This record gives sequence, C-alpha cells and structure tokens, in this order.
Amino acid sequence: VLFTGSEERAPVALVDCNNFYVSCERAFDPSLEHRPVVVLSNNDGCVIARSEEAKQLGIRMGAPLFTCRTVVRQHSVRVFSSNYALYGDMSARVMETLGRFSPRMEEYSIDEAFLECPRLSGACPMDWARRLRAQVARCTGIPVSVGIAPTKTLAKIAARIAKKKPGSAGVCELAAHDDIDTALAGVAVDAVWGIGRRYAELLRRRGIMTARDLKGADDGWARRHMTIQGLRTVMELRGVSCLGIEDAPPAPRSILSSRSFGSPVGDPAALREALADNISTAAEKLRGRGMLASAVQVFISTGGHGPGPHHSASLTLDLPQPISDTRELIRRGLAGFDRLYRAGVCYRKAGVLLSGLHKERARQPVLFGCRAADERSGRFMEAVDAINARWGRGAVSFAAPAQAVRAWRMRRRFMSGRYTTCWSELPLARA
Ligand SMILES: [Mg+2]
Repeated sequence: VLFTGSEERAPVALVDCNNFYVSCERAFDPSLEHRPVVVLSNNDGCVIARSEEAKQLGIRMGAPLFTCRTVVRQHSVRVFSSNYALYGDMSARVMETLGRFSPRMEEYSIDEAFLECPRLSGACPMDWARRLRAQVARCTGIPVSVGIAPTKTLAKIAARIAKKKPGSAGVCELAAHDDIDTALAGVAVDAVWGIGRRYAELLRRRGIMTARDLKGADDGWARRHMTIQGLRTVMELRGVSCLGIEDAPPAPRSILSSRSFGSPVGDPAALREALADNISTAAEKLRGRGMLASAVQVFISTGGHGPGPHHSASLTLDLPQPISDTRELIRRGLAGFDRLYRAGVCYRKAGVLLSGLHKERARQPVLFGCRAADERSGRFMEAVDAINARWGRGAVSFAAPAQAVRAWRMRRRFMSGRYTTCWSELPLARA
C-alpha cells in the first residue's frame, strides 16, 4: 500500500534539538553560550557534536580530536567527553514536554520527534510551534527547531530550514497551499530524508540534483531503481503522505552493549568485571522494554592492530528459557567468557549481544519450572531498576568487586557531571 492517508490529514511537525549534546552541556553551564564547544565519542576519540561556533571554525563532524588540537587551543574550544547519562535523561525530559503538545508522537531518535499538529480552532500551526518551542526551552533549557509540513519528508526539510535560515526563529512551515518548489530547489538531493549516499549518486548521474528535481522524477523510474521506499519519498515531496506517525516503534531484535578499553586489558578478573557491567546495561534495557532474551552472545577482541598476539572470538549461548534477570545473564555470559579467554592476550574490546527477544507477557511457563522463583526474580530486578533510576546507574550493580580493577574504564577526561541522574553530581548554585 503506497498511500495511508487522505487530504484531511493533519500536518506533521518534526521537532529537532539543536546541537543536542552541546545544548545539554550548555543547559548546566551558561558560560558555554556563544563559545565553540565540541563533544567527543567514547574514549574521547572523535568529534560527534559541535556548537555553531565550532562549525564556523571548520571543525568537521567525526574529526579525531588530535587533528583539531591547534584550533582547539587557538580558539579556546571547550571539549567534553560524551555524558550519555545526562543526554539520555535530558532527551526523556524533552520528549515528556513534547508529549503534552500532541496526542500522537513518534520518538524518532534521541533528539528528534515527529508530532501530529493538533487541530486547534483559530490557532495556526506556527503559533502552536512557537509555544512548543518556548515551553521546551523553559522546561529543559534545550533549543529546538520545528518544521511543519503535510508529510514527514517535507517536515524534515522544513526543520532544516527552520534551523539554518536567518530570521526564521526556529520554526518553518511548508504548507500544502504554499509554493514550496523554491524551498525544495535549495535542498541538495542527498539531504532528503531516506536518500543515502548510494541513491544520491545514482540520482545525480540522472541529473537529479535537488529535492525539487526529485519531486519531479518519473514514478516508474523511481519505483524501478529505488524500490517502493524511493517512490514513497518522491510522493512525500509532492505532499502526498505515505509515512504515518508510528507511535509504537518496532520492537528491537537484539540489544548490544559493548565497550572499548582505554588501554588493553589482559587481567581476566578485570575483563569479567567489564563484561558483567555490559551485561547489566543490556539487561536493564531489556527489562525497560518489557522483554526477555533467549540467547546471550559474548565477545572479546584485541582488534587487528597494536603489538602482542591478536585474538577475537565470540560465543552464543542459548538459554533454556527466555529471561531478563541480570544475575542469571551474567552467570551464563561469564561462563561463555571463560571458554573464550586466552591467557597472556591483552584485549581492547568486550561486549554482549542479547537476542531472540520476546515480549515478557508471551513467556511460557516451563514444565517443572518454578513460577514463584520467576516472580521473585522479576520483583527483585524491578527493585534494582527503580533504585538505579532514582540514585544513578551503578547505585546497585552486580559482580563489580574491587575498585582496583577499574583500569579498563573508558577514557573520559572531559566529562561533565551527571547533573540530572546522580545526587552526588548535582550542579552547584552559589550565592
Ligand atoms: Mg539534532
């Protein structure tokens, strides 16, 4: 089915947080305003978020930190390690605020959401968007851009214009009755939502350079060369809605948690602890989605470079029945690790993949299994999750013994506080 809607359909808004990770840092440190700021990937490797000022300095997305040393020093660029506890929590607050503005919403990523514009008597969508923007700023301190259009693909483009075009004050509407071709002519075809690098190349070879060109592409050609998804994109650019708001995201098929070590680790106790930590994280996500895993895969790797012997291996263990209990997952996962580990090898990465995921209510009681034990385990894990949600991740943790084995921790030299999720790291207000 190509079409899912009618002419009566309400407009769609895309709300996009501006330079999200940087904005989270700024929300707690106003001295960062109007200054170049960057956030680094795990292990402080590459730039993954930039403030407008940092973009102006020519710092590229994905640039390794060591390639930007000079510009960082010359322009006093403020550098941060990624603080996912903070960003995740701020994202939840933004989404919670957005949820008050529309009954239908799709959380598209950590910093983007599609909302159905409610039909308000007498109020235009632009007024609604301005109120939403002001409310998010007031409740969370995060600046957002809002794009409104008849389709999701056009809403993405509108949000881009809202962010980039001076004088738009963070909101832009491409309404059905407007002449939107001028706007589309200013958008390169590879910036259209759903058009990857490979399709962009194919399109450019055919002389389709902008979103406006793509809007006018031949239906049959698009269908043949870009599948039904490509044709949907073309229709969406014409204002024909083909992609609905998906309130419930599709259930994930697996959950991965892995970690690269700041320095190579050979000590099996330290590796076991790192893996236990990964398994805890993955199991918490699993329970957060109300799911159970039927298989656990553990892997360890030295990577292909560096001195010393190289070794990469993984092992998948099927579980006798689907579970979500951290203790049982750790017990199984570490048993797998013991079979993989080679003494004398220094590893750079370890992780876990939970797969064969089912919704919890679909659990089949095992023959001769113990229901009471299952329920006790469920209540226990619920309590652990509640404590960690309230007091910060790691308040209760499993199989994490001495502090002495903390050497594997990620390099995070420039980390800000977990201001919103950890009591001991609350921001200080001075009189
Ligand atoms: Mg964004």
